[in-house]
Amino acid sequence: MTRRSLLGRTAGHAAEYLEGLVSGPVAPTASLGELRAALGRGLPEVGMTAEDVIDELVRDVDGGLLGSAGGRFFGWVIGGGVPAALAADWLTATWDQNAALYACGPAEAVIEEITGAWLKELLGLPAEASFAFTTGAQMAHVTALAAARHRLLADRGWDVERRGLFQAPPPRVLCGGEQHASIDRAVRMLGLGTDSLTAVGTGADSRIDLEALERELQIDAPTVVCLQAGEINTGAFDPFVEACEMAHRYGAWVHVDGAFGLWARVSPRYSTLLDGVELADSWTTDGHKWLNVPFDSGFAFVRDAAAHRAAMTTSASYLITGGAARDQIDWTPEWSRRGRAVPVYAAIRELGRDGIRAMIERCCDHARDLVRGLGALPGVEVLVEPAINQGLVRFLAADGDHDRRTDEVIARIQAGGEAWFGGTTWKGVRAMRVSVVNWQTSSSDVARAVAAVASLCSDG
Ligand SMILES: *Cc1c(COP(=O)(O)O)cnc(C)c1O
Repeated sequence: MTRRSLLGRTAGHAAEYLEGLVSGPVAPTASLGELRAALGRGLPEVGMTAEDVIDELVRDVDGGLLGSAGGRFFGWVIGGGVPAALAADWLTATWDQNAALYACGPAEAVIEEITGAWLKELLGLPAEASFAFTTGAQMAHVTALAAARHRLLADRGWDVERRGLFQAPPPRVLCGGEQHASIDRAVRMLGLGTDSLTAVGTGADSRIDLEALERELQIDAPTVVCLQAGEINTGAFDPFVEACEMAHRYGAWVHVDGAFGLWARVSPRYSTLLDGVELADSWTTDGHKWLNVPFDSGFAFVRDAAAHRAAMTTSASYLITGGAARDQIDWTPEWSRRGRAVPVYAAIRELGRDGIRAMIERCCDHARDLVRGLGALPGVEVLVEPAINQGLVRFLAADGDHDRRTDEVIARIQAGGEAWFGGTTWKGVRAMRVSVVNWQTSSSDVARAVAAVASLCSDG
């Protein structure tokens, strides 16, 4: 089989999978044991034809794929891939450029430069901010907080890149307390340790408590304030104007986790929730969530480009750097890397600003309809009406053990395969998260999900 026919055949497998997602079960149907039996072979001592590898791979993963790329998946915050982004992702693998330097992939370096500027414009971030395309928001946090660490310590005469953190003035990281765990892990990876984190507290609305924040800011230390644009359970947004102005009065650096929520800024319906977010010093968001590009796509933006570059840049005698082009290696925590800007470039061109706005608003409408539809069912309580695309409901038990009942119904829904929702603990109670992030989710997907839940919880 020629390479051309192998690729054509593979495209056929891919299309078949995507078509199956429209009506097939969302949940995996194969067990762990079945998957190990299907995929687990002894280490191949001799090879086989590429077409057999691909055909068998497709056959052997059958039942082991979660339908998160489809429209009836409402778990976590995952997102799918718009067609141009998926196709561009294939091309990225095909071109197989090392997107570390302009010299090893000129077109991809230029695509990244252009796409970074587009993202800042779309998200309303300062034009002078530097940026990095990372594996996800986790490494975008590491990148942005490394820049913060550099700047805050340099301001106190400490060169952290050279001297490390031993004997450095200990940095503090102030959070509301409902931050995503990737912030905690970024702090660990940067050598600050989780003891450097202080949860100042949040109000009933999940927004950071400004009075408590001000008390903590009065302690003299190199300080980062982490704010949230879209809390994972409720989609809550911190008060950016007040928090940024206050933090800056005390010389602190403000970092915003906007993994999905920053995208709400593209819609005039929701952009006021993000008023003042541009006052922060660094921001992270994802391409692989709400922009709907395939995985391996996060972004860090840093107002102080010099601090960002100082924290990330590297050099070696064999590199070719320093021309007029942007070398990605100066901004990212990786050396060799895939050209992950390419699918982002493709998604933005396919959708345009208006298409992105429409996708964001559609997801929010569907989240509202899902929560309302579920809330209208007997024995369902709405805990959080979506402010954007995230809501919470729970299932009430006759005996009052609503936590047990909620977990039971979630397990039944997941096993049923008509739709997929996940659980969470919110303010001490078990709840079902309703998260709509996929470009494909339609009104009929929403109706189908509500009907499935209705039939699975009708036994009281
Ligand atoms: C998903 C998420 C993250 C982590 O992002 P990854 O892209 O998975 O690394 C961080 N913060 C929030 C609010 C998220 O939703």
